[in-house]
Amino acid sequence: MDVDVVVVGAGPTGLMLAGELAQAGMRTLLLERRPEPSETAKAGGLAGQILQLLHYRGELDRFREACNGPARPEPAPRFPFGGLHLDFTQLEHPPMRAMLLPQPRLEGVLAERAIERGADVRRGHEAVTLHQDVDAVTVEVRGPDGPYEVAAHFLVGCDGGRSRVRDLAGIPFPGTSLPEIERLASVTVPDSVTVLDDGSLDVPGVGKIPFGYTATERGVFACSGLGGTMGVYTAEVEATEYDDDVPMTVAELSASVSRVLGIDLPLGEPLRMTRFGYSARQADAYRDGRVFLAGDAAHLFPAGGVAVNAGMLDAANLAWKLAGSVHGWAPPGLLDTYSDERRAAAERTLLHTRAQVALRRGYGPGGDALRALFLELTADEQPLRRLGALMAGTDVGAPMSEAHPLVGTFATDRALHVDHEDPRLAGVLRKGRPVLLDLTDRTDLRELAGQWDGRVDVVSATIDEPPADALLIRPDASIAWAATVDEPDETALPALREALTTWFGAPST
Ligand SMILES: Cc1cc2nc3c(=O)[nH]c(=O)nc-3n(C[C@H](O)[C@H](O)[C@H](O)COP(=O)(O)OP(=O)(O)OC[C@H]3O[C@@H](n4cnc5c(N)ncnc54)[C@H](O)[C@@H]3O)c2cc1C
Repeated sequence: MDVDVVVVGAGPTGLMLAGELAQAGMRTLLLERRPEPSETAKAGGLAGQILQLLHYRGELDRFREACNGPARPEPAPRFPFGGLHLDFTQLEHPPMRAMLLPQPRLEGVLAERAIERGADVRRGHEAVTLHQDVDAVTVEVRGPDGPYEVAAHFLVGCDGGRSRVRDLAGIPFPGTSLPEIERLASVTVPDSVTVLDDGSLDVPGVGKIPFGYTATERGVFACSGLGGTMGVYTAEVEATEYDDDVPMTVAELSASVSRVLGIDLPLGEPLRMTRFGYSARQADAYRDGRVFLAGDAAHLFPAGGVAVNAGMLDAANLAWKLAGSVHGWAPPGLLDTYSDERRAAAERTLLHTRAQVALRRGYGPGGDALRALFLELTADEQPLRRLGALMAGTDVGAPMSEAHPLVGTFATDRALHVDHEDPRLAGVLRKGRPVLLDLTDRTDLRELAGQWDGRVDVVSATIDEPPADALLIRPDASIAWAATVDEPDETALPALREALTTWFGAPST
């Protein structure tokens, strides 16, 4: 075997995966067909559960510092949702948070992290074809010095929505593509435009253009004059397939505004210009033998702001399972849980992103009424919480165990009864290994987990009102087992042993 795992594609998913695999001791080769990192403005930042996971890894500051110097505050938790804004500020522990970090810089940090940990990142190397048998998967690569082959235990296609790996593995990618283009831009405010206190714009010859979304028969328009710049958004039916690498121009945006809103909106200098078409698709399977899919190669969502989170969480879910298989301790069936778990998570994301399209596209009095009613409902805590968890990717379906409601869920602030970025849990998953988190000084449980020494870490922490006596947390921050408060040894010990064996194989000592 030349390497343990080949990762195809150096977007956020592949780079995250390469870093996780290398940290788990995998000889990791990352192939990227572009000779240089992409500078295309795509995602504007990180949002959702991945922020919590990076906090548990003790790495959040590293990503934050890449935003524009240290201590850049996270934006207020106020998010676009289907042509509306959801206001999470009213919640004590908002389930949805974000950190501004333009995708090229995010990829820069992830690449640095992967290389530091020992991954071999090769740019200008394209995966051309692959074949697999019971022992290995072999990929044929076209590199700057000519073609070559690499054999590995596993190969993961993180090669985006038009994934060649997916095609080569023959995995169908059913779903729908919308004949619609969205344009999102940030421009300087031209002298002729006055920004009003509420973020609305006053435009000569047009009048007041309200802050937020306006749905018309021809599409959706939104603007914001907050923060010293002008944010402009349009969505309209258009079947053109644009190349992501060809940036939108001010003239293109201006023409779109005039089609959707019927006005000539003065626009300043471009600061950030993006355009996207949307699809709602999911691969029928995320695995074919030794070949796996992750990120956009596995799923495409028809609304923004959630795809990077989903892809990086795919990577975190898969990496430790592949490492367990290569190291030889993975229990039977562990690798298949990747596809099951992450497909279920993507289904939940498809559910809310498809609903967002319907909400956004409704125009006329019916559409306005639907959005007004929806906003009324989200003024209440419970529906807002549920939507936030869906957007953050923490609502991934039914809990896995009747014994404890936390099992099968993500270790979120709310689940653990801690504040966001609670320092007691910073770095608790630093090594990328599972952790028995003892919250109530349970020597018995710690000693049992000690039998998985070298594979499972044992950490004690004291938190107010612990939700459980102890938690077994997987490297991807999913809770594999929990002891109820004051649970007796007679039930807690056998249940913990079973969970450890189910997820992390036979004891090492
Ligand atoms: C304009 C725009 C705005 C967006 N805004 C947001 C946002 O605000 N929030 C959000 O979460 N998401 C956003 N997205 C989506 C987000 O950018 C993608 O979901 C994300 O890039 C997917 O990451 P990935 O690593 O799975 O795939 P990609 O980023 O597509 O990376 C795939 C990589 O694989 C490489 N590759 C392909 N084929 C091969 C091959 N055969 N061999 C080697 N390498 C190969 C490609 O060159 C590419 O670098 C936006 C997308 C666009 C276009």
